[in-house]
Amino acid sequence: MGINGRWNRRSFLGGLGTVAAAVVAACRSFGWSPPPKLTGFGASGNVYEELGVTSVINCEGTMTVLGGSLPHPEIQAVVEQAARHYVSIPELEMAAGKRIAQMLKLPQGYSAIVTSGAAAAIQSGLAGILTGDNETFIRQLPDLSGMKSEVIIQKSHRNPFDHQLRTTGVKLVEIETREQLRRAVNDRTAMMHFSNFANPDGQIKVDEWVKLAKQYNLPCMNDAAADTPPVSHLWDYVNMGYDLVTFSGGKAIRGPQCAGLLLGREDLVRYALFNNSPYEDTIGRSQKVGKEEIVAMIKALEIHLAEDQDALAREWQQRLKTIASQVTKIPGVSASFFMPPVANHVPHMNITWEENRIRLTPPEMSRLLREGKPSIVIGHGKEGSEGRPGLVMNSFQLQPGEENIVAQQMAQLFLTHSV
Ligand SMILES: *Cc1c(COP(=O)(O)O)cnc(C)c1O
Repeated sequence: MGINGRWNRRSFLGGLGTVAAAVVAACRSFGWSPPPKLTGFGASGNVYEELGVTSVINCEGTMTVLGGSLPHPEIQAVVEQAARHYVSIPELEMAAGKRIAQMLKLPQGYSAIVTSGAAAAIQSGLAGILTGDNETFIRQLPDLSGMKSEVIIQKSHRNPFDHQLRTTGVKLVEIETREQLRRAVNDRTAMMHFSNFANPDGQIKVDEWVKLAKQYNLPCMNDAAADTPPVSHLWDYVNMGYDLVTFSGGKAIRGPQCAGLLLGREDLVRYALFNNSPYEDTIGRSQKVGKEEIVAMIKALEIHLAEDQDALAREWQQRLKTIASQVTKIPGVSASFFMPPVANHVPHMNITWEENRIRLTPPEMSRLLREGKPSIVIGHGKEGSEGRPGLVMNSFQLQPGEENIVAQQMAQLFLTHSV
């Protein structure tokens, strides 16, 4: 990130007199360096084109497979500062955690660490609960001898990210009812886990789940990876009593793609760090977080907290309306709007059409948009569309003006396939 292309000191000195070099050296000691001039890879200004990889217009939202989100431009500036010095990573993590807790006004006794993503936060959070600060246990994971070994989760909350719970060696115990939960708690139980996006699906809701955990004297984690906006979610779950809460840094927060947050009780956050990089012989050594990501995450949060979320939501809705107004001019095409209650809580649009008037199935339409120039990624059918028919899109990851391109390409395809 910005290191490889930086000023090459030797060649620069070779081309200038010693006076100029001394001036530059003096400036540098104040933290200034000449802007990097790229030769070779990246010189064209588009690294993706140079590699022959097609960049896409993203109507699906913060999908890790598409690169998550585009970080706020200011973030590069702090990354660049971070890349100039060596620091103790554990010291930096603790200081960043303190700053983040202040920014989010978390209660006394709560802190945070920056992880390599929400998935890493889930894994190291649970690892910390299992091991505490016991070095033997930390080295031993995922062999759970001597430790607790079960995590309770509602059946409807199972999802691909619980792999990060299972990597610690624990067994997931699925329950549905309060009675089943009561019976599942035993002295092997390490934690109760909640998947925030599944709140509407489970019998036990987010506030009751943590109350029950307190009643059973069990630590409780909430995976809220994709659940800002609203920004208040960044503190709501801690205030509700959750011991650990995870967020993705590279989704709507628009921090570095390889970053996430583990917020929670100071002791548990510290134990989580012991199970994470830079500490070696740990289960989390593969989840390295750099000094650059740590400081960038603070900057991203600062920007995210200051954003006018209502104005942004209006802008996102307006983009959808721009597209709707174009495509619904074509006979047989309709558009409707909705907002998922939790997880990607941003304006969405559902586009449907009468297939006897337009000879295209939703998957075909989605494929043609993907193959178009520029390439547009939009969810369809059941997959990625909240179970709705037709196409489903959001607009919060569109770049200014891209809504017009989307409207044009879609309208063109509908017209070409109209009968
Ligand atoms: C995206 C996501 C994660 C993983 O987040 P990363 O920051 O990509 O590691 C975990 N849980 C849920 C529900 C998610 O949506």
